[in-house]
Amino acid sequence: MSVRQRYEKRAASWHEAGRPADLLETDVLALLIMECWLYSDGAKYECKQEEISETFLDFAVDSMNAELARDVYWKDRIMKERDYCEICTSRWMYDNLALCTDCKAGFCIDCMGRFPYHVNGNRCCDCGGEIVG
Ligand SMILES: [Zn+2]
Ligand SMILES: [Zn+2]
Repeated sequence: MSVRQRYEKRAASWHEAGRPADLLETDVLALLIMECWLYSDGAKYECKQEEISETFLDFAVDSMNAELARDVYWKDRIMKERDYCEICTSRWMYDNLALCTDCKAGFCIDCMGRFPYHVNGNRCCDCGGEIVG
C-alpha cells in the first residue's frame, strides 16, 4: 500500500465512523509528516491524477485544527526540536530535516541525494516510506 493509500484508508475509516475527534491524528510528529507529505511533489503529482480525496484533506485539516486548539504553537515547537540525520548523524532541527512517512527517520539535505525517486517524485526511504519536508 502506498503512503497515499494508507492515508486515504485511515481518513476513510475516520469518515465512516462519523468523523470522531479521537480518530484524528494526534501524534504531532506524524501530523507534521502528513502536512509535509501533502505539500510534497509526490502529493502534487498524485493530486493531478485526482487521487487525493476530499475526505483525506478534511482529515488532515481537522487533525491540524484539533492540534491548534490544544496548542496554538505546536508546529513551531516541533520544528525547533532537534533530531539527528539517520545517515551522517549530524544534529539538526526538524525544520531542516526531511522525514520518512513510515519509519519517521530524519535525513539532512546532504544525505537526501542517495535515495531513489518514487514514481510520484518523492524520494524513497530504504524502509519503503516516502521522504518529505
Ligand atoms: Zn546527513
Ligand atoms: Zn523510512
